[in-house]
Amino acid sequence: MRISKRAGDWHISFKYDYQPNPTPKEGDIIGVDVGINALATCSDGRIFSNVKAYKQAKKRLTGYQRRVSKKKIGSKNRAKAVKRLAKAHKKVADIRADALHKLTTWLAKNHSTIVIEDLNISGMLKNHKLASAIADCGFYEFKRQLTYKCEWYDSVLVIADRFYPSSQLCSNCGHQQKMPLNVRTYECANCGFKADRDFNAAVNLANYVY
Ligand SMILES: [Zn+2]
Repeated sequence: MRISKRAGDWHISFKYDYQPNPTPKEGDIIGVDVGINALATCSDGRIFSNVKAYKQAKKRLTGYQRRVSKKKIGSKNRAKAVKRLAKAHKKVADIRADALHKLTTWLAKNHSTIVIEDLNISGMLKNHKLASAIADCGFYEFKRQLTYKCEWYDSVLVIADRFYPSSQLCSNCGHQQKMPLNVRTYECANCGFKADRDFNAAVNLANYVY
């Protein structure tokens, strides 16, 4: 059992044994691209967008941050502002966790095989702009939830090799081309296939297991 205090709230957590609960699967293989723009894009065309509440909470967070920096260091008002900021942080994290839970439950419950990419986080963290976006997307949390839920619901989690170029391959003909991060649409120079960048990557992930 673990007891911790976070932003003024007490949390108790403990480990327990969980009996697997296999569910009938409506889908076979699904590829999932975890993005910065959308929470997730799936190879069946489904898009899980970032929830509105999350965007609003993030905006509020920026405001609280500014307020903290304006208060005198060591003052009572600053301590109060810091407390408020911590609460806002927790709210953002809670909304994110809730959205991730819905996504990972849906994936693990309804698909026999789920394919995700193995993000090279340490390499990406060197790019500071990307770093905050990735930390924000909670990729670690996504992978963690999916791992144990696939066990619960008796589905298979496949993590593609980190050198598999899921965003560079054409999901139609297999041609490979460079895809800078700002290019949002995949336009194949070989066959002319056109698709949303994240969707193309998700289909490639689904194809990874064939
Ligand atoms: Zn092509």
